[in-house]
Amino acid sequence: MGKKGKERARERREQRRQEISHLRTVPYSPHERWWSKETVAVVTGANQGIGYEIARQLAVHGLHVVLTSRDFDRALGATTNLQAEGLSVQPCQLDITDAGSVMSFASWIQLEHGGIDVLVNNAGVNFNRGADNSVEFAETVIKTNYYGTKRMIDTMLPLMRPSSFGARIVNVSSRLGRANGRKNKIGDPTLRENLMKDETLSEELLDEMLTNFLSQLNDGTWQNGGWPQMYTDYSLSKLALNVYTRLKARRLAERLDSHRVYINCFCPGWVKTQMTNWEGNMSAEEGADTGVWMALLPVENISSGRFYAERREIDF
Ligand code: NDP
Repeated sequence: MGKKGKERARERREQRRQEISHLRTVPYSPHERWWSKETVAVVTGANQGIGYEIARQLAVHGLHVVLTSRDFDRALGATTNLQAEGLSVQPCQLDITDAGSVMSFASWIQLEHGGIDVLVNNAGVNFNRGADNSVEFAETVIKTNYYGTKRMIDTMLPLMRPSSFGARIVNVSSRLGRANGRKNKIGDPTLRENLMKDETLSEELLDEMLTNFLSQLNDGTWQNGGWPQMYTDYSLSKLALNVYTRLKARRLAERLDSHRVYINCFCPGWVKTQMTNWEGNMSAEEGADTGVWMALLPVENISSGRFYAERREIDF
């Protein structure tokens, strides 16, 4: 993109930022507010960054939030801060890469609340910064961002409470994981097409893609594998998550209306958090906005299997 193009993009971003800042001041009408203080929202990786902000904003809107962290003390610290603001928040330990931790969490939720209404899969890792493209921690990245999130979805789905407004799953993802983005896409057009088409998309295809990447890491050939060039491991993990969101939405659409679960993903933008070493053009509060908006959409406006950024739908 040339200098003028970059300038225009910056202006558009700033304009949208101001529009959203205004939208956030518009209160939900009683008709739009489908939730109550009994509505239970779970947020993963919520001890800091975007997750903390999503937890805070959902609680400010009046939901009961279960604030989870892989370190219980950090969950407790974050919860204590929010409780001091009078918000209804509860801490719980949850490491999404640990099957035992996820199972214990699910059992605890069942006992404590009988189920949940909103699940925000925010927990994630990225070990690259700036222009780095190391794959040293690729296994952890894929195990956390894709397989950990998938484990959460599959474990929590039976606990999502039936209701007329539908339960909601919000996956925090990234534009870096777009299959057909202008930049950073998968080089193999057949794989791209197979990921995009309903008839060829499957969990097996995703597993095969990730296994293939990891085995190329082992034999040192990954750089010629046609993978996304920026933050390769992270981009692939988020691509898998995006594609899985579409796949899962299709399966969930077969449910009866009263057991409807809506699942969508979003990109928070480039946000100043620990993950970006506090670089970025948005605050955590702004980065959380689209996720909170998606979680609270009135039932007549909600869809499933979509990808959002700045409160608008974007292409996968
Ligand atoms: P942070 O590093 O501040 O927060 C990440 C959170 O995930 C932390 O709470 C971290 O816990 C938690 N986490 C990591 N691994 C696990 C695990 N195995 N189990 C449970 N929790 C875990 O980053 P952000 O707030 O920026 O990131 C939040 C989400 O937003 C991520 O999914 C990220 O990929 C996504 N995102 C962020 C962007 C940005 O510009 N910041 C851009 C696009 C997407 P701990 O504190 O213990 O490390």
